[in-house]
Amino acid sequence: MAGIYIHIPFCKSRCIYCDFYSTTLSRDYMVLYAQALEREMCLRKLYIECTRVHSLYIGGGTPSLLPTEVLTNIFAAIGRHFSLVPGAEVTIEANPDDVTPDWLKGLSHTPVNRISMGAQTFNDSLLKLLGRRHNAQQIADAVQACKEAGITNISLDLIYGLPGQTFEDWQHDVQLALSLGIKHLSAYALSIEPGTPLDTSPYKRELEGAQYEELSRRMYNYLMSTTKQAGFLHYEISNFALPGFHSRHNSSYWQGIPYLGLGAGAHSYDGHRERRANLPDIKAYINATEDVPHETEELSDEDLYNEFIMTRLRTSKGIPLNELPEEDCQYCLSLAKPHMRNKLLCVQDDHLCLTKEGIFTSNDIISDLLKVDFN
Ligand code: SF4
Repeated sequence: MAGIYIHIPFCKSRCIYCDFYSTTLSRDYMVLYAQALEREMCLRKLYIECTRVHSLYIGGGTPSLLPTEVLTNIFAAIGRHFSLVPGAEVTIEANPDDVTPDWLKGLSHTPVNRISMGAQTFNDSLLKLLGRRHNAQQIADAVQACKEAGITNISLDLIYGLPGQTFEDWQHDVQLALSLGIKHLSAYALSIEPGTPLDTSPYKRELEGAQYEELSRRMYNYLMSTTKQAGFLHYEISNFALPGFHSRHNSSYWQGIPYLGLGAGAHSYDGHRERRANLPDIKAYINATEDVPHETEELSDEDLYNEFIMTRLRTSKGIPLNELPEEDCQYCLSLAKPHMRNKLLCVQDDHLCLTKEGIFTSNDIISDLLKVDFN
């Protein structure tokens, strides 16, 4: 099993909280970029040792900005170099305001069977403050349009802990999202990333302190209970899905399955010890004649242990203790003991998992279980 991620680093404008690699370059670059993507496919298709893939994820940036003919060209190139296994999950990210009948018509000629939409909130003032281009009505309209076009496997992204967002605003967001009949919900606490406009904005001060922490905790608690009542499974700290609709692509990241990342700024993992990051430089990517500019990292035993802990503990299944070498398992359990005594971690069916209470301090718990390199 293997997956492909294709990064589309184009956005119409930049949102104030975002640190993903994207540019606001014009349509001409999109055509050149699609050609460069095929060049990279040609060069690197054996990176994951097999050209049959079970998941394909087109993310960004804003892939829904690509003109239909460019998107069609990208899928044609994928078809020339890879084969999707029957039933493969093929996701594209979309901004609600791009989801027009024409765009959906273009999509109907591709294998896309899942749409991940960046809703973020249904509060129009907050959307404006974040620099989003859409309004709440456009989210509802876009979901409806996707369903009418036959794509019912829809995921929405929401953000909580926004500047000025009240608990009632968040209740409204969660309820509205679930009322749209989506199959998957990703919800993230707003994080202030260095170098983003949010980091230097006057809102930043509002997003700190015990009161803000407490509000975020209440919001997350509400999210967990409301999605549960609606039949969603909480399968990863930030991800909720109806049975059978978890993101197979993201799940493979958390299971150590190899994936090939194509495009400027895309990351790859060879399934063994190599992680590779293409440099976030679209012009260098387009102009490359051989392999695109990138950096690789050889993972040490310690890195592999740490990644195993970090990714698995975020999932509801937890860390499969029997997959750890005996020595690492004992090490992990000895560090887990204080958290188990405090009922933040527990062992179920030979898996070490976060308890409901433990989820609230998951970052601290995860870092307590890691191996630290003092060299
Ligand atoms: S959040 Fe999405 S639309 Fe906004 S700047 Fe980032 S990648 Fe672009």
